[in-house]
Amino acid sequence: MTVNKISNLRIDVLNTINEIENRLEMLGRDEPIFGFVSSKYIKCGKQNCKCEQGKQYLHGPYYYLRMEPEYRYSKYLGKRIPTNIEGRIDVGNRIKDLIRKKKKLLETLEKLENI
Ligand SMILES: [Zn+2]
Repeated sequence: MTVNKISNLRIDVLNTINEIENRLEMLGRDEPIFGFVSSKYIKCGKQNCKCEQGKQYLHGPYYYLRMEPEYRYSKYLGKRIPTNIEGRIDVGNRIKDLIRKKKKLLETLEKLENI
C-alpha cells in the first residue's frame, strides 16, 4: 500500500471510530440494560401450600432480569415484563455491538501504524 492510501484508510477508520463514539454517547442516555429476561416457576415456602406437592403446582412463571456479568436472577420483574425493559435491553445489546466494532477498528488502526 502506498503512504497516501494508508493515510486515507487511517482517516476513514478514525472517522468511523468517532461516529461510533457519538452513537455510544447517545445510546448511553437511554438507560441501557446489559442482560436478558427469563422466567421461572417457584416454591413460595409457605407450609402446606400446594406448590410443595410437585412441579405442576409451582407458582409462576415469574420474570427476572438476568444481568451481566454473571447472569444471575438479579432483579425480580413480576408476572409481566415491564414495557420498557425489552427496549432498554435492546439498547444494551446495541452498545455491546458498537463496543466490539470499536475494538476491532482500534486493532486495525494499530496495524496501520505498524506498516
Ligand atoms: Zn406455594
